[in-house]
Parts: sequence; structure tokens; C-alpha cells
Amino acid sequence: MRGNPDTSERPGSPLLVDRFGRVATDLRVSLTDRCNLRCTYCMPAEGLDWLPKPDLLSDDELTRLIGIAVTRLGVTDVRFTGGEPLLRPGLDDVVAATAALDPRPRISMTTNGLTLAKRAAGLAAAGLDRVNVSLDTLDPERFHRLTRRDRLADVFAGLAAARDAGLAPVKVNTVLMRGVNEDEAVPLLRHCLAHGYQLRFIEQMPLDPQHGWNRDDMVTAEEILASLRTAFTLTPEPGERGGAPAERWLVDGGPAVVGVIASVTRPFCAACDRTRLTADGQVRNCLFSRSETDLRALLRGGASDEEVAAVWRGNAWAKAEGHGIDSAGFSQPDRPMSAIGG
Ligand code: SAM
Ligand code: SF4
Repeated sequence: MRGNPDTSERPGSPLLVDRFGRVATDLRVSLTDRCNLRCTYCMPAEGLDWLPKPDLLSDDELTRLIGIAVTRLGVTDVRFTGGEPLLRPGLDDVVAATAALDPRPRISMTTNGLTLAKRAAGLAAAGLDRVNVSLDTLDPERFHRLTRRDRLADVFAGLAAARDAGLAPVKVNTVLMRGVNEDEAVPLLRHCLAHGYQLRFIEQMPLDPQHGWNRDDMVTAEEILASLRTAFTLTPEPGERGGAPAERWLVDGGPAVVGVIASVTRPFCAACDRTRLTADGQVRNCLFSRSETDLRALLRGGASDEEVAAVWRGNAWAKAEGHGIDSAGFSQPDRPMSAIGG
């Protein structure tokens, strides 16, 4: 973070508290900025520079930071993401080291699923609890156009392997785009219901490297729900939503549910409980932060665990009230989604 945040009014809590009464307990860890797909809303077809190798955290550095988050800062949930987390060579070891922490956090992963068929059982054995697999279309040609790779069959195989390995509930993340796949809300939900996956739609956010996001092109949560209601009866799921970003609906009376994450049209910033670590060791208090805090330099400079924890607390304290997508002065973060960790 450029300049130290003013923490003079911060209470003495060991947790990741902020000025608006929120507490971050959910850590998103980006394991790599690389990916084996090129989804149009996330990465350019080519020409994106990878993070330089010496800048990436080693497995030891990574597990030390996760340990600090869990044992000193009150993090209870760790999600591995990227880029594509399955491309990280030491993934199983990092998962196992996370599962060995006391208290043990809940451990999940967001993945495109391409190589999950081979990996799901090993990851479950290492301690992974759940997965979210991204899937925007059931049509192989569309998949190819959308991700610039012809790999839909691999995603289906990965999803089935995750279910068979007990990584439950297996969730599917879908981004709908106008003129691309907006007609697939109902078929995707039918597919997920038939296979026992839990579907969540995510509104497209301004995080693409081309900076081409346009609000009018975004398929809104309202539109998604209207589309689903042509085929299903949706009733709000009873109970507290807490910090969960998805609004969930019972499908045809339940028990199956579908989620809609309206990050743009109904932001959930007031209940946000997230903190993010990038593959090069920067902490971000929001997907849309314009600044980061360099923990890698602290680690490599010989800082103690408590010194690192104190700097992380300062980053959390400086968290903005909201992402501000709708404010006049909004500008996208410099990093694309693939380098922040979705
Ligand atoms: N590669 C993995 C995957 O695709 O699941 C993990 C990283 S990816 C960045 C995480 C999630 O972010 C995916 O579900 C993807 O669909 C979503 N995503 C990427 N760019 C997005 C955008 N501009 N708006 C909304 N969601 C986005
Ligand atoms: Fe890769 Fe995931 Fe981004 Fe698609 S959304 S390009 S799979 S990181």
C-alpha cells in the first residue's frame, strides 16, 4: 500500500477488522496468474505478461502467510484460486499444509476444472473440502469461442470427478454475457440439477484486461432470475445470508438451490468478509482495490510472523466502504482478474 494507512483509531483486535465494522475471515489465495483457458471476460487472447518467476511466492512463503492468516488473524476459510490453481505444481502440498493448521480452516478452490478429473481424488485426500468449477455454456462451439480453447469435455469430466471424490457441494460458477450465452440460464440449471451440482450466476464485473466492460452489455441478476422463472419456481431460501455473496433461491420448492451473485447491481460490500493474497505476495482488501500491501518484501526482509500480521491488519483497516463501480470516479484495478485471483 502506498504510504502506511492511518491506524491510530484502530481497536487492539488481533482480527482483520476495518473502519466499517466488518471482519475479514475469508482468505482468497491466488496460486498463479497463468491459465490454460483465455476466457474473453478475464484474459486477452495473447500478449499478457506473466508475473516474473522470482516475484512469485514459494510454497514455503505461501504456507507461512496462510498460517499467519489462520493462526493470528482469525481467518476461518481459505479458497485457492488464480489464474488456474491446478497449474500450480505444489498445490497438493499447499492444501495439505493448510489442512494441518490448528484451527483447521475450511478449504476450497475455484477452478476451470480442465485437469480436475485426474486431480480431484488426490486433492480431497490432501484436505480440500469443496470446489467451484466455472462453466458458462453447455455447447462445445460456444465454449471454444468463449474460452478460446476446445476443452468442454474436460470440464464435464472434472465436475464428475469432483462429485465422486466427495468435494461437495460441487458448485458451478456461470457468467452470462449478452449475445453470447444469455439464453443458457435454464439449460445450465437443468444440467446442474440433473448432476447434483449447485449453480451460481455471477454478474460480469469490470475486470477484463481490455477494459471493455460496458454496463449495458451486462446481463443483470434481475434478467437472470426472470429467465429462470420461465421454467422454474424460485422462492427465497429462508435464513440469514451473512457474508455470503450469493442470494439463494429454492428451485421448485427445494431442496435444490440456485444462487445469483449480483456484485454490480446489488453489491454486498457491507457484508464483505474477504481478504486476498496474490501469487506475488500482495495483500488486497478488495477485488477492486487500487492499492496493495507488499507482504513478500516483509517475508524476504526477515520480518517476524507478528510483524507480518500487523501489516496485514493495517491493510484490512484501510478497506474502502464499497467497490464504487457506480461512482463517477471509478477506474478498474490495474491487474486483470486472472492476476488478482477471482
Ligand atoms: N481459473 C479459475 C476459474 O476460472 O474458475 C479460477 C480463477 S477465475 C478468475 C475465478 C472466477 O472469476 C471464475 O468463475 C470466472 O468466471 C470469474 N470471472 C473472471 N472474470 C470475471 C469478470 N470480469 N466478471 C465476473 N466474473 C469473472
Ligand atoms: Fe482462466 Fe479462470 Fe480467467 Fe477463464 S476465468 S481465463 S479459466 S483464470
